Amino acid sequence: MTLILGLEGTAWNLSVAVVSEERVIYEAESTYKPEYGGIHPREAAQHHASELKNVVSRALRGAEGEGFSLEEIAAIAFSQGPGMGPCLRTVATAARALSIYLKIPLIGVNHCIAHIEIGRWQCGTKDPVVLYVSGANSQVLAYRFGRYRILGETLDIGIGNALDKFARYLRLSHPGGPKIEELASKGTKYVYMPYVVKGMDLSFSGLTTAAKDALDLHQHKKEDICHSFQETGFAMLTEVTERAMAHCCKDEMLLAGGVGANRRLQQMLKTMCHDRGARFYVPEAKYLKDNGAMIAYLGLLMLKSGDTTPIEKSAVNPNYRPDEVEVTWRDVE
Ligand code: AMP
Ligand code: MG
Repeated sequence: MTLILGLEGTAWNLSVAVVSEERVIYEAESTYKPEYGGIHPREAAQHHASELKNVVSRALRGAEGEGFSLEEIAAIAFSQGPGMGPCLRTVATAARALSIYLKIPLIGVNHCIAHIEIGRWQCGTKDPVVLYVSGANSQVLAYRFGRYRILGETLDIGIGNALDKFARYLRLSHPGGPKIEELASKGTKYVYMPYVVKGMDLSFSGLTTAAKDALDLHQHKKEDICHSFQETGFAMLTEVTERAMAHCCKDEMLLAGGVGANRRLQQMLKTMCHDRGARFYVPEAKYLKDNGAMIAYLGLLMLKSGDTTPIEKSAVNPNYRPDEVEVTWRDVE
């Protein structure tokens, strides 16, 4: 059996998994938790460096416990980008060392595309429009002529970062998204928030500023502000996703990335898909957030199409865009 070891550590979650063509065999992780504020890139990288040996060993021992032999590992896949430079470099160094030591190929994968492919695999959706919403990224994508094309994206910060920033202002710990969701569920009144959609692109940084003003200048209740923040930001994302589906004539939609765990966002997208006779897909929460299984699984698809990464081409790219990747593992329409 062909097994792949996948290493993910673009930001705060260090996660390592062993995957076969049939299933995710074993996953191990260690999450960096900032004492205060957001993710500090150097501290997160130091966390990954000190935890890597432990997390890789747990994943390998776990796979052995499931009855597999380490001889069956055919390649090492790692997140080549996008992500935080110090974190990417730490994990890439470990991946190169493992590849050289075990004398097996190295595969550098694009983190955004890994989110898409694990979703397609887990949900059984063939050709969806994808809404990828995480801390740093907010993109609407679809596969066209050999690449994942970015049809719309944020012009400034990701929706997750916008939520996390406002959460920090409310003195809530990282990650703020789930705490904002909890507060929003108790809000009843809509307060003004800027709805910024430019063509197919979006802007979220004004939402954070408006939310701070609603609290400090206008003394609205924080529950109402969180409710309004979500209603506005998620409606913007739903509008652009719907337009992408209409333009591409696609009747499937896949949600990906950590913010995808939000029930209100899921509900809005589900309603939009239902209204246009399309199917809505969302994978289990553990595959929405950053995870090693998605890196290993995309590594497996790439290995099968002969797409490996020589060491001299394995430098990380913190701004790696999904449309830079030539998709070798899917049929061209
Ligand atoms: P990722 O970068 O894909 O690991 O996603 C992390 C981001 O997802 C952070 O900005 C979190 O605040 C956000 N997030 C996680 N759960 C939720 C939720 N239930 N609602 C909104 N945002 C969330
Ligand atoms: Mg991610």
